[in-house]
Amino acid sequence: MGVQSFYRDTWAEINLDNIYYNVESLKNILPGNVTLFAVVKANAYGHGDIQVARTAVSAGASYIAVALIDEAIALRKKGLKEPILVLGASKPENAVIAAENDITLTVFQKEWIDKAKKFLQESKPVKVHIKIDTGMGRIGVKTKQELKEVESAIRENSCFYLEGAFTHFATADQLEITYYKEQLALFNDLVESFEKRPELVHCSNSAAALRYPESYFNGVRFGISMYGLSPSKEIESELPYPLKEAFSLRTKLVHVKQIQPGEKVGYGATYEAQAQEWIGTVPIGYADGWIRKLRGQEVLVDGKRVPIVGRICMDQTMIKLPNYLPVGTDVTLIGRQGDEFISVNEIADELETINYEVTCMMSYRIPRVFIQNGKIVEVVNGLL
Ligand SMILES: *Cc1c(COP(=O)(O)O)cnc(C)c1O
Repeated sequence: MGVQSFYRDTWAEINLDNIYYNVESLKNILPGNVTLFAVVKANAYGHGDIQVARTAVSAGASYIAVALIDEAIALRKKGLKEPILVLGASKPENAVIAAENDITLTVFQKEWIDKAKKFLQESKPVKVHIKIDTGMGRIGVKTKQELKEVESAIRENSCFYLEGAFTHFATADQLEITYYKEQLALFNDLVESFEKRPELVHCSNSAAALRYPESYFNGVRFGISMYGLSPSKEIESELPYPLKEAFSLRTKLVHVKQIQPGEKVGYGATYEAQAQEWIGTVPIGYADGWIRKLRGQEVLVDGKRVPIVGRICMDQTMIKLPNYLPVGTDVTLIGRQGDEFISVNEIADELETINYEVTCMMSYRIPRVFIQNGKIVEVVNGLL
């Protein structure tokens, strides 16, 4: 594990102990035959792909899932040995690179199989899972007829190994369960129609894995809640164990000044001091994913909530301090400081979006500092 350095006063802290706890707690309630897939697409929802994958594996995950072949290859390059499933669509000509890197692909079109086999060799088959569309309306076979065609095309050719079948729920995070039930029934029906049922059958995302044992089959795909975040607010009170958030965002004051009544702050000179005020500048801005729409958000300094003032710039943001504080004072944008806490959900509410989007949008410019047993174990600077 290399410790890279960084030079800016802004970083994300990733608490690997919390990720371990979130995974282990699910593992403890799953029957032993259920494979836990750790979903680490999009750089582990912004948390750091290999670090999260390794932590999840040590806590009981045995399969890794990503969205793209590129993400799977990145994990192989970083030394990951566990099986990896690509959940999204891939191109048939890239089945070879998947086979070479022991990457499992998602398939759902007979034409794809027919094309991919031209690139493959029987000595190096590619593992595939068939995606079934039971109501998400995204990718997947929809009918028994399509499923049979894809299954036979795969089984006819030893360039392919049919390992799994899965579907994805559109509403497992909602209190209203009718649509979820319909999807589950359809999935059961389609899975029954396999000529030979594949060894791994899975349909649960975090929401279903945490709420519905009837949806385990023999695999669950654990994404958002591995990071300590509830799939939605409405099911938070139903979760079987309290999740622990893993993502914190921190910075420091790089400049502190007093301004007089009538003085302005930021582009457009939109903020005007009403009295003598202490203004602090922090080195984070919209290019880091701390976007301009967060203008109304508070941050934590000296254990207190303080407002952002003026427009957020590309690389810097100004805040109103409660009093004079020295340059170098810690500022928390997401996470705990003293008795105060700003959750990812609070930021999501401010942005009128979901918690998933918040950690995903934190850019490569923010170094990730990994904490394990209370100590820094690794630093990744996306710029160097
Ligand atoms: C992203 C994704 C998941 C993980 O969903 P969470 O709600 O984050 O647990 C599972 N399955 C598929 C197909 C996905 O694309």
